[in-house]
Amino acid sequence: MSIKTVTVIGAGTMGAGIAQVCAQSGWQTNLFDAFPEGLEKGMKTIDSFWQKGIARGKTTQQQKQDWSENITQFTDMKAAVRQADLVIEAVPEIPKLKSEIFEQLGKYTNQSCILATNTSSLSIADIATASGCPERVIGMHFFNPVPIMKLLELVRHDLCSQKTIEIAQQAGMQMNKTTILVNNIPGFATSRLGVVLGNEAIRMLADGVASAKDIDTAMVLGYKHPMGPLALTDLVGLDVRRDILRNLQKSFDDDSYAPHPLMEKLVASGRLGKKTGKGIYDWSSGEAEECQLPK
Ligand code: NAD
Repeated sequence: MSIKTVTVIGAGTMGAGIAQVCAQSGWQTNLFDAFPEGLEKGMKTIDSFWQKGIARGKTTQQQKQDWSENITQFTDMKAAVRQADLVIEAVPEIPKLKSEIFEQLGKYTNQSCILATNTSSLSIADIATASGCPERVIGMHFFNPVPIMKLLELVRHDLCSQKTIEIAQQAGMQMNKTTILVNNIPGFATSRLGVVLGNEAIRMLADGVASAKDIDTAMVLGYKHPMGPLALTDLVGLDVRRDILRNLQKSFDDDSYAPHPLMEKLVASGRLGKKTGKGIYDWSSGEAEECQLPK
């Protein structure tokens, strides 16, 4: 099946990036958000990305115009998905919200349309069940910022059809992403490894193994990671990582996934990372600076 029309549900951080890449792939891209201000913010983000590309000489005015013409904004979900070959959902990580949306997608889309969710931690099987057509549902887990990050983690569940997997792989290739295929096991491949490394780095910091900067430098220079695990935890958000760890601890019934007490203390005191200006590091200067940690 060749994809012509893609609908993106939710125009936030991830949805805007996904819609941008779809438009750049030459697809008719329908961008839907339940809130007009969400749609407006998403379109501004896309426009400013392309504008910066022009300023850097990476994008031409003609490309920007062509790509912009590929995007149509919608505030009515039924109309947005009616003609879609692929729908990618990127609404907040709330199980009930995702289930309600997939229930509607099952009814409003063509029988041949693939339904993807960008969830980073919820069960794809549960979301698929809500749609009433689980064979058409797959996880398409993109990374932030979507136009730059190469990885696309595809997550299959027991009832996902081979055809759905193949179409998702083909779509990923057309979006210039490298796909990996993982099973619907909590944390998938990326979230599980990422949070475990981050949690261990926090334990090492609390144990006094080295300073935050030195622990990060160990992984950057010793293992060629582009960023240290502590700085990355601040970037993702300590609350986000804490929630994923708690979810893994519960799903696997394994306390080795328990968030370290220092992580819990930082979250409880509102130090969530770069987004609040302070987490493991102080980000008020725009750069990661060492700072006092709670006892
Ligand atoms: P976000 O809060 O930035 O955006 C969510 C958007 O959905 C908003 O524009 C909001 O107006 C809209 N929305 C809310 N309810 C809606 C509804 N009923 N119908 C349509 N639109 C609705 O969230 P985000 O960071 O883009 O995350 C979206 C999803 O992507 C989540 O499942 C998250 O776990 C996953 N994810 C996020 C990241 C990340 O780094 N932010 C990375 C990978 C995956």
